[in-house]
Amino acid sequence: MLLRHTPTTQSQRKALHVNPAKACQPLGAMCAALGIHGCLPHSHGSQGCCAYHRSALARHYKEPASASSSSFTEGASVFGGQPNLLQALDTIFSVYDPQVVAVHTTCLSETIGDDLGQITEKARKDGKIPEGRVVFGASTPSYSGSHMTGFANMTKAAVASLSESTGRRSGRVNILPGWVEPADMEEIRHLARELGVDPIVLPDISDVFNTPLTGEYNMFPSGGTPLDDVRATGDATASLALGERCSAPAARWLDAQRSVPCSVLDMPFGLKATDRFVDTLRRIAGKPVPASVERERGQLLDMIADMHQWLYGKRVAVCGDPDQVESLVEFLVSLDMRPVHVLTGTPGKAFTKRIRSLTSEVEEEINVKAGGDMFLLHQWIKNRPVDLIIGNSYCKHMARDEDIPLVRWGFPILDRVGHQYFPTAGYRGGMRLLEKILDALLDRKDRDDPEESFELVL
Ligand code: SF4
Repeated sequence: MLLRHTPTTQSQRKALHVNPAKACQPLGAMCAALGIHGCLPHSHGSQGCCAYHRSALARHYKEPASASSSSFTEGASVFGGQPNLLQALDTIFSVYDPQVVAVHTTCLSETIGDDLGQITEKARKDGKIPEGRVVFGASTPSYSGSHMTGFANMTKAAVASLSESTGRRSGRVNILPGWVEPADMEEIRHLARELGVDPIVLPDISDVFNTPLTGEYNMFPSGGTPLDDVRATGDATASLALGERCSAPAARWLDAQRSVPCSVLDMPFGLKATDRFVDTLRRIAGKPVPASVERERGQLLDMIADMHQWLYGKRVAVCGDPDQVESLVEFLVSLDMRPVHVLTGTPGKAFTKRIRSLTSEVEEEINVKAGGDMFLLHQWIKNRPVDLIIGNSYCKHMARDEDIPLVRWGFPILDRVGHQYFPTAGYRGGMRLLEKILDALLDRKDRDDPEESFELVL
């Protein structure tokens, strides 16, 4: 009964967040930087920030997350962190020798006003960056946006700093998958290749955060977008940005500065969003959808049709990051489920508008909030209970207190495994997501059914 004191009466709160439903920008920046092969993320701030962000990633993925820190102390906090960053770059290249160092700011260095571009330039002039090695930076002030914003800022900084344009189109397609699981990135790449598209997936944390156990430790895992591919994004034929918040800023930058036309799509979670992704790939490739992809789609459709009776009318509370949640809500509505409470910690009016549009035909009042917190979600659930909660591990407290089944989905998942290895994106991923939802609902039914309706065959 950890949250037993949550009251049902909601009062107006503007300045106070209780149990936030988001993390800070540098966490997302660190994750995006780790999606570039041979890249060491560098946190320009105090050690505590870097330790928190590394541990958040390591706890979610159950893999080490390497990163370095400018290790600010009192002096740097007052006079600025330039000497710390110059020393750090010296040490990083002497000890770890990464191909790329991706620097991001923190609250502290942003408040001081450190200029990453100027410091990096000085490091170059002072000979602290070896020949052939790359350092770039992203501004990630933690007091605006969320970890999603940091992911987007780092992805945009990567293409803005590293992409090159020769004036010739390569025929390749940039796919900016946003912050999804490594297995989702593999699924997205699988669909692109089935459609005959040669993708540059950026960033790409597959084979970074879902590596096999080999008995050997590699500071820089085999995965991540190769540096040459990051450079080649400027010559691509098209960009597909999956997610308005995570991916669109980088794709729009490539469109405006490198003349790579971009399409901004929803993340391919669920049938309809995956259909739009596949259709866009089909038009770019100029080829029909292959039978292999039609088969995957047909299997998902079959599963939905077979199990619809257990999904119909079920009321769901959803909490997570906006790009993911928008696709999920569309999927739930398409299953005839009712997402009645929908909350994201990332601020932004567009989210509320989109969710209202997606749920316009649900015959029930929908609670929606962008920039909300877990406390509010719990209050909503107390006032109007649901059959299912879908969200990250932090939802487990309210799920337990209210005795509601929970499907863990999103970031972070601290108390389960599988999200790294099994996708929920694409058609095959949609089947897994559906399986998780059905398992939660049917396990609850088996637990609660009286003996006379306790069935072996459903
Ligand atoms: S909110 Fe600021 S101080 Fe706190 S971990 Fe994030 S960057 Fe560091």
